[in-house]
Amino acid sequence: MLPRTSRVVVQEGPRQLGLRELPIPAITDDSAILRVEACGICGSDVEQYTGTIPIPLPVIPGHEPLGVIAAIGDRAAQRWQVDVGDRVAVEAPIPCGHCRACLEGRYHVCRGRGTMFAHGYIRLDHAPGLWGGYADYMYLDPCSIVHKVRPDIPASLAVMFNPLGAGFRWAVEIPETGPGDTVLILGPGQRGLASVIAARAAGADTIIVTGLTRDAPKLSIAKQLGADHTIDVEQEDTSRRVKDLTDGRGADVVIEVSSYATAPVAAALHYVTMGGRIVLAGIKGFKAVPDFVSDLIVVKEATIRGAFGVTARAYDAAIRLIESGRVPLALMHTHDFALADAERAIQMLAGEIPDEASIHSCLLPDALSA
Ligand SMILES: [Zn+2]
Ligand SMILES: [Zn+2]
Repeated sequence: MLPRTSRVVVQEGPRQLGLRELPIPAITDDSAILRVEACGICGSDVEQYTGTIPIPLPVIPGHEPLGVIAAIGDRAAQRWQVDVGDRVAVEAPIPCGHCRACLEGRYHVCRGRGTMFAHGYIRLDHAPGLWGGYADYMYLDPCSIVHKVRPDIPASLAVMFNPLGAGFRWAVEIPETGPGDTVLILGPGQRGLASVIAARAAGADTIIVTGLTRDAPKLSIAKQLGADHTIDVEQEDTSRRVKDLTDGRGADVVIEVSSYATAPVAAALHYVTMGGRIVLAGIKGFKAVPDFVSDLIVVKEATIRGAFGVTARAYDAAIRLIESGRVPLALMHTHDFALADAERAIQMLAGEIPDEASIHSCLLPDALSA
């Protein structure tokens, strides 16, 4: 039933991706093989591709896979409560289950099996090799984490469990967003839009999203997904607009999901209300933040939290929302790519392809190459 080999995309070095054919490993009683239906492309794929984040190479990238169980050991089937033919969303981290982080429920930052022991980040020569989602088939470790997803939703939308899960954890779970809260989201990328959806689902009162002038299409989608107001930070005085929209109070919750720009981090301290919560989730290439006035945190008694990964609870909320059909998620999904076009997919998200930009995109192994 299973083919002998799988097509995989292998990264050999910075900006070096190639298609290869590798054997599909045998399973044990505790492991499984996933037939990949779709794999989401996210900002960290860009950083991995360019070498901005150092990843051991060679590697099969792809840490946002959705697929169907193609083969599974009896014990794995029992533990995960899934069987051959079931559709699952796979979390990236493969936690050890025994370290302090795991025991305290922060399994997504587990380092028990090494730093970044996660689907899409483990070296190809670490047996059995097929660890990444840019492939027809992927290996599921006994400690991989899977969530069942209904099979009748188009794969390119179901695979949004990943950005949406981040939205629920970063914009709702961590800042404890609820009814009455004004939520200000800095950055209208896929994580920013997912934060709009999650904050709306959590009952937030007013949702405001900021972006650059070139982000106009994304800001318009933000409105269609539930944002009340959008701000073009290049054309408008953001501080003044936030004040006007909040009766001079500032935002209860500020979510920073812009990529690379450090100015929004410093500005967040000005936008947040007394006692408000700021969540920092946009990676800045480890740059220092100029004009960061820490006194504002003191005098406002503001809380600043970092957010890196997602938790099972947030993924479950995301999957339920996808299954509900309540939100027009297709607005966010702009591109499907074939495996052979992985490089183009990443370059498009990075804005390196003239005149064409993606918001949410994914690889569909079955798609035909452009
Ligand atoms: Zn990702
Ligand atoms: Zn652990």
